[in-house]
Amino acid sequence: MLTIENLNVYYAKAHVLKNVTLKVSQGEFVSIIGPNGAGKTTLFRTISGLKDGEGRISFNGSPLPRDPAKIVQLGVIHCPEGRHLFPEMSVKDNLLLGAFRLKNFDPESELEKIYQLFPVLRQRERQTARTLSGGEQQMLAIGRALMGRPELLLLDEPTLGLAPIVRKTIAEALKQINDSGVTILLAEQNVPFALAHAHRVYLLETGIIVKEGTPEEFRADAHVQQVYLGGVS
Ligand code: ATP
Repeated sequence: MLTIENLNVYYAKAHVLKNVTLKVSQGEFVSIIGPNGAGKTTLFRTISGLKDGEGRISFNGSPLPRDPAKIVQLGVIHCPEGRHLFPEMSVKDNLLLGAFRLKNFDPESELEKIYQLFPVLRQRERQTARTLSGGEQQMLAIGRALMGRPELLLLDEPTLGLAPIVRKTIAEALKQINDSGVTILLAEQNVPFALAHAHRVYLLETGIIVKEGTPEEFRADAHVQQVYLGGVS
């Protein structure tokens, strides 16, 4: 579904993505792990057309247009790090904004799907996004992205700053989303979370893909264990 070949991205003279090559097949759940500053957000911003890059990015066999609005229209929906909600708007209105790419849709039935996935959002429907807890805000950000009926959901650091219990809720929701047919590309520093339900994993370090494999292969890898899993296998 998504193929990236030899992608190079720069900020002025800083070369932050170096010959990145990866693929995500239809229906897959793929995680990209790596430390702070490795380039995960830059990669997602480049896929979404928010940052220029050199290399090839194709989606369903055609080059991905370098225009964020057209990329959204194709069903590539980016749930950004930091959530970027509209803080003074209600939960419901934030969700409805996520559906802007759809032409004919029944708002209530689309909302119902999100409320089934995250029941707390139903209870908070009329509250402003600003008044939600961090975990609820993250659920809202994911819910808003889902309202656009993504074919490919790009999820950047959804667990940042969240308590373990909320991480668990979000991990289970991601599995359900993927099981429902949405292809997921996740960027995460929290490696146990990233490995939990992924089919395949890439390790990005200083802008270079240094390893690709299954979660089992990652858990068994001495470097991954030592650096990313606190020495625990
Ligand atoms: P984090 O998890 O901390 O967001 P990341 O893996 O997503 O890390 P990026 O945010 O993509 O990493 O950053 C990759 C590199 O690019 C870092 O060295 C960062 O300092 C640099 N960088 C990111 N944004 C800019 C920018 N707007 N201008 C200049 N350098 C930038």
